[in-house]
Amino acid sequence: MKARTKIQKKITALSKALPKITAEQKADAMKMHKAYTMVTYKHINYCLECGHKWRADNAPVRKTKRSVCPKCSEKLILTGNSNGSGFYDTLGHRDTKFYGIITVHEGWQVTRICISERYMRKKEKPRRWFKEVMQVWMDDKGNTQIISSQVANLMGYEHRWGESPLEFRGGVSFAHQWKWNHCPNRVWHKRKVIPILRRNGFTGSCHGAIPHQMMQALIQDNMVETLWKMKRYGFAEAMVYDQLGDKYWGSMRIMFKNNYNLPFDQISIWKDYVDLLEYFAKDTRSPKYICPGNLKKEHDRLVKKKKRLIKAEKLELQKARIALDEVGYEEYFKKYFDLTFKKGELVIEPLRSVQEFYDYGDKFHHCLGANSYHKDPKYLCFVAMVGGEAVENVQISLKTFKVLQSRGLQNKPSKHNAKIVKMVEDNMGKIMKAQSA
Ligand SMILES: [Zn+2]
Repeated sequence: MKARTKIQKKITALSKALPKITAEQKADAMKMHKAYTMVTYKHINYCLECGHKWRADNAPVRKTKRSVCPKCSEKLILTGNSNGSGFYDTLGHRDTKFYGIITVHEGWQVTRICISERYMRKKEKPRRWFKEVMQVWMDDKGNTQIISSQVANLMGYEHRWGESPLEFRGGVSFAHQWKWNHCPNRVWHKRKVIPILRRNGFTGSCHGAIPHQMMQALIQDNMVETLWKMKRYGFAEAMVYDQLGDKYWGSMRIMFKNNYNLPFDQISIWKDYVDLLEYFAKDTRSPKYICPGNLKKEHDRLVKKKKRLIKAEKLELQKARIALDEVGYEEYFKKYFDLTFKKGELVIEPLRSVQEFYDYGDKFHHCLGANSYHKDPKYLCFVAMVGGEAVENVQISLKTFKVLQSRGLQNKPSKHNAKIVKMVEDNMGKIMKAQSA
């Protein structure tokens, strides 16, 4: 996309005036590709660095993932599928790394991102592709402009960058932002920083964060700036990525005062843990709670406790609901409670409480209770027993006086089904009589 606005035209011109990436920088980027790779297939080992192949028992290599090339003497790492039938074993290996240059140009903070790729195939010399694919231009207010090469999104997760020139490509909307969120694997050691960033504590190292996002936050977010100056880089990063909000600030301060530290990957657990403390009405400003000796263990304990509590609350609630229903049920269906039909072993009688709906629902695994049939004055429900053992529930319509369903275990009719239905139908007159009583 061609530059349209005044600012885009300006950035385009400034970008053209940037110095070319030097040979020294390209060589420096090569240090990212540290792993020398090999593949192995049917007892033949291939060095992907020099193209040499040699026959050897590959069992030890599969185990240790390491070997040494007999020709070029490189220490090699086995890549690809360890069972020998994987994609990389036959095709080779592609190593993609991002290289960053943090610099200043005409008062702008510029982050230049390059891609360095090595393609390695068996029996071939490795090839390398190096290209600058993205530049982020930031002014002293933290406003950013991004220009990049064309980037294709493969299968929704992998990005392939092309040879195309750096241009404005459709804004920085949230949906598209993640393709620009590349944290360089290595940054050129000579870094230049605009004065506002230097004032806010930034010296050029991002401590693992995505450079342009961290720099923007250091200009625009006081809390990030404070954390950065306190050297709490993990917390600053968590703040930038919205993993922590203002809400945790008080607890964080207590934590820092007590010299409690956490690596970046544990901060989200800690945040979760603070939420749990809050749930259990514990003091989230007390070092006793905020700085646990074993964070993971305390977190897991509270998670379990909360689950138990929710389960118990649900049970309580269900009981209360049933109790409430019972009153109405008895009042309305009382007149049918004396209807008991008997013939030999078979006994059929009405359900006399809401609890029975739930109990039979549990016993037969059908939905008698859960569907709240007891609340509907259109239906009357019975239980059919053979030799004292419940075998089916029968539901009839109090409007049409028809048997709607008679079901036993897993909502299926039992072997007594025909007899049961017939007996209810034979006694329909008594039910009608009870209704008009
Ligand atoms: Zn070799």
